[in-house]
Amino acid sequence: MTKTISLLGATGSIGRQTLDVAEQLGLSVAALTARGGNLDLLERQTRQFLPRLVALYDFDAAEKFAGRVRDLNVKVLSGPEGLVEAAAIEEADTVVTAVVGMVGLTPTLTAIEKGKRIALANKETLVCAGELVMDAADRYGAEIVPVDSEHSAIFQCLQGSADRREIKRLLLTCSGGPFFGKKFEELEGMTRKDALRHPNWKMGPKITVDCATLMNKGLEVIEAMRLYRLPLEQVDVLIHRQSIVHSLVEYRDGAVLAQLGTPDMRLPIRYAFTYPRRGENPAEPLDLLTCPPLTFAAPDREAFPCFALAEAAAKEGGTACAILNGANEAAVGLFLQEKIGFNDISRLVKKARESVPVVYHPSLADILKADAAARGAVLSE
Ligand code: NDP
Ligand code: MG
Repeated sequence: MTKTISLLGATGSIGRQTLDVAEQLGLSVAALTARGGNLDLLERQTRQFLPRLVALYDFDAAEKFAGRVRDLNVKVLSGPEGLVEAAAIEEADTVVTAVVGMVGLTPTLTAIEKGKRIALANKETLVCAGELVMDAADRYGAEIVPVDSEHSAIFQCLQGSADRREIKRLLLTCSGGPFFGKKFEELEGMTRKDALRHPNWKMGPKITVDCATLMNKGLEVIEAMRLYRLPLEQVDVLIHRQSIVHSLVEYRDGAVLAQLGTPDMRLPIRYAFTYPRRGENPAEPLDLLTCPPLTFAAPDREAFPCFALAEAAAKEGGTACAILNGANEAAVGLFLQEKIGFNDISRLVKKARESVPVVYHPSLADILKADAAARGAVLSE
């Protein structure tokens, strides 16, 4: 069980909920990190949890922040090195990776090399470099416990399964997002505001847009393939509008195990800390008598081409997933700045996939190069 955490991405949606759980479980906090967009919140968190280290990616924000907490015994760092130092901090037994995007990769690898438990929310890391990350985790004996609700559900359903060959397939559930049921042409005029209106979950803006394009589910298929070392053919997706069944495992003997619960990220976050035990949940439990009927449907790959693009990248392997992810991060960034339309996201990702060559059996350097080339391809449009 986790005793002390280092939290990368403290001011985000997962970061804030992680601190709720940390408070409830009485965990210590050794380090907090953020980019620097919300210094008021970071200061409140710092005063409450008294970490030894706070790292801000943004240099100016770090300088400002150091002035604000001069009265505390806290070291303030800046830049990517600060993130890495927070990931390696001696006192923490668990590192929560709740930053958004590829920027989480190097700190995650560092924490793995230190043999820490990784409570992994930052899915972009596994999408881009999943094989390297999982191999490193094996080599250094670091446990990776997923925080993403679907992967946590699968992780929970796999407890007690001694042999992965008994798995027939994983079934990831997907809310369908705010545009469920619409055709591709109808999505053309969708705005930032429309895309940020998720039916069931309150999350950061990047992942919320990914839910609207279904890229999130595509990234999660790749995340599941890496975490559980399964081919694409053994990872399926079901649209499940109610977000109550968080995912399922179908075994070869026909048994299908699922994890159900209210849509609340604090459950998978708590489990990442208490695993292999279970803690107390102070929130209202799921009531199957009053919850809506549970329905399931197939995803629409024509209306949501990002999902099909992710599956194609998953099939191709090599740096294809890093190209997909880098292009998507850049395109979603442009969409959030209202510089491109909704359907331009999939168009730009497709274009980057066509123009950036794939390297097979890539090194970390190849992955970083593919990521940069994909972003370049999108931003040069
Ligand atoms: P948010 O956008 O809410 O938060 C992101 C956090 O990362 C903030 O603390 C932000 O700091 C920090 N950050 C952003 N960019 C950088 C950077 N360049 N360097 C250092 N820190 C940075 O994201 P979410 O919490 O929604 O998501 C975090 C991760 O978890 C993502 O990978 C997402 O896919 C995954 N996830 C999220 C879920 C959710 O419910 N939110 C569910 C499942 C997975 P600042 O505030 O200063 O900008
Ligand atoms: Mg998820």
